[in-house]
Amino acid sequence: MQSSAIEPDIREALKQAQARIEAFKKLSGPQLSYAHVLLGFESATKDLSRAWGLVGHLDSVLNSPDLRKTYNALLPEVTAFYTSLTLDPDIWQVFKNYANTAEAKSLQGIKRRFLEETIADFEENGASLPPEEKKRLAEINAALAEKTQKYSENVLDSTNDWEIFIDDENQLKGLPPSALALAKQSATTKSRPDSWRITLQQPSVFPVLQYGEDAALRQKCWEALSQVGYKGKWDNTLLVSEILSLRDEKARLLGRKHFADFTTARRMAQTGDQALKFIEDMAVRIRPKFEQEVEELEQYRSKIEKDAVRILHPWEFGFYSEKMRREYHGFDDEALRPWFPVEGVIAGMFKLFGNLFGIQVVARDTIYVDATGKAEVFKAAAPRVENSPVSVWHPEVRFYEVYDGSRHLGSFYTDWFPRESKRGGAWMNFFRTGGPRPDGSFAPHLGLMCGNFTPPVNGQQALLTHDEVTTVFHEFGHLLHHLLSEVEVESLSGVRVAWDFVELPSQLLENWCWEEESLALFARHHQNGEKLPSDLLKKLDAASNFRAASQCMRQLCFSKLDLDLHIRANELKNADLDKHWNDAMASWQTRTSQRVPSMARRFSHLFSDATGYAAGYYSYKWAEALEADAFTRFLKEGVLNSKVGRELREKVLSKGNSEPADQIFRDFMGRNLDSEAVLVRDGLA
Ligand SMILES: [Zn+2]
Repeated sequence: MQSSAIEPDIREALKQAQARIEAFKKLSGPQLSYAHVLLGFESATKDLSRAWGLVGHLDSVLNSPDLRKTYNALLPEVTAFYTSLTLDPDIWQVFKNYANTAEAKSLQGIKRRFLEETIADFEENGASLPPEEKKRLAEINAALAEKTQKYSENVLDSTNDWEIFIDDENQLKGLPPSALALAKQSATTKSRPDSWRITLQQPSVFPVLQYGEDAALRQKCWEALSQVGYKGKWDNTLLVSEILSLRDEKARLLGRKHFADFTTARRMAQTGDQALKFIEDMAVRIRPKFEQEVEELEQYRSKIEKDAVRILHPWEFGFYSEKMRREYHGFDDEALRPWFPVEGVIAGMFKLFGNLFGIQVVARDTIYVDATGKAEVFKAAAPRVENSPVSVWHPEVRFYEVYDGSRHLGSFYTDWFPRESKRGGAWMNFFRTGGPRPDGSFAPHLGLMCGNFTPPVNGQQALLTHDEVTTVFHEFGHLLHHLLSEVEVESLSGVRVAWDFVELPSQLLENWCWEEESLALFARHHQNGEKLPSDLLKKLDAASNFRAASQCMRQLCFSKLDLDLHIRANELKNADLDKHWNDAMASWQTRTSQRVPSMARRFSHLFSDATGYAAGYYSYKWAEALEADAFTRFLKEGVLNSKVGRELREKVLSKGNSEPADQIFRDFMGRNLDSEAVLVRDGLA
């Protein structure tokens, strides 16, 4: 792929999109129709979006200095083009004129929803404000972009500002070999090969807090961590106040009570108060168990140290709970690898969900052409479809097609192993959104899944951890949400759903990684094909629920902080952040020997983007509650029950955003959400 080809292509696509938008602004009279206005606006930017999506994809999987330069050169122009659309008064006027026509007023079903969602998108971005207020909104958005960028830089810079060199290995007693090796390597790059270097980057400092026997070192590290976004010139206190104030003003300008009402209005929660109620209810239900776990940990420490029970210091939580976990659930994730050979897991997963949802996944040959023009064809494994090989960006990339009988629903690429040119983590993405077409045909979708799993060693196939297997299932859930979509309007298709609903399919599929019946289909020993022994599965289950109330309360505590700050911004923006964190929020945290600086100064989820997870952190728990509840149908009616599977496909996976999320959920469950299910699953009911 030549990076030099990208820039002229994207500029051409931008020019085309701009020309189409100019033509759109002139629509009037009989041209004010569903086809010209709604479909016309959507298709005006389609080519640009597809092309730009491909550039973003290459940036993720095939990064190079050239490509990065091209990407960064184009990014501001492309972003400016998209953000200009919703504030353009001429575009908005066309939509308003169309909304007043008899045709628009009589739209039904998906076409009506398309109109309503488009209008809502524009209004959410201030399209209907008078010019003066539009101007103020643009100023607020610009200020938010700048302040959140600064907040994020402060977190990053204060994290990077701290380091410690250890010369005596005894001080690092308890650390696993991988953490020691990392610390040694880190010191070596700083020309101190005889020392070990600890930084505040997670992979460096977390093993110290978790395993380090030396309490003084842990204390030093914890104190440094608590100063992130706080000390000296990197103090985020004022920025938190300014960001909260700007968001509050923005929400009021757009007719909402506060920022939490603004972000949730088009999500399942609908209001900030409902999101807060969900979080508070759950906290009430788990608090007794949580308090019991706090006491257990305090007693455990006293047992280990052979002294009186006392409240823990903040640098003791991670250490003693890890010690306790190892003592009671001496469970090693590595031990399960032999049952999860990557090829077997993936083939088994396709079969499992193929049967459940009534689809067939088949592989197709691939062809890779290297920089010198040399081509190599890779024959696909069975079940394989006979067809010309598909061109791929790396020899390890595989290609599959998904059918329902003879109907081709879509295709996807997989790219599972790490390399230098690829970003970290796992993700699903899509290149094309298909669906039913006006002529009655079906356009296939095109998507992909990427990961960074343990790579194959010595020509043997890769053996995954259970955690990695769960990630594969998670991304496959997102992918099926895209590939099984039967929505005729592209903007309402697949994963373009409410923020607090989008993780339902992905997290739901993870459940099949824990059930004996389904594990039998894909967890087979790589040498002898034997099933995962049930005592190992029991250990895995028990380990996953270890201190579940404390884990859950931590998520709830972050959600509560987020919602408090955004619902009560007026009152809290100038209040003492540490007083709020240590006093008002005391019952949400493990009691500790001292007051600690508020999390708000280093909570990047909330303050590193204009919106990001602000007033949205609750959606992690919300999505868990949804999927755990949805899975109870499979627990009751059969984990492998294809009747329920088909229903899930028809009522949820195929629906995209064609109906409100709460209605989609109710259609599948036959009732509203019952958040008890997630507590039952985690052993907290
Ligand atoms: Zn996800």
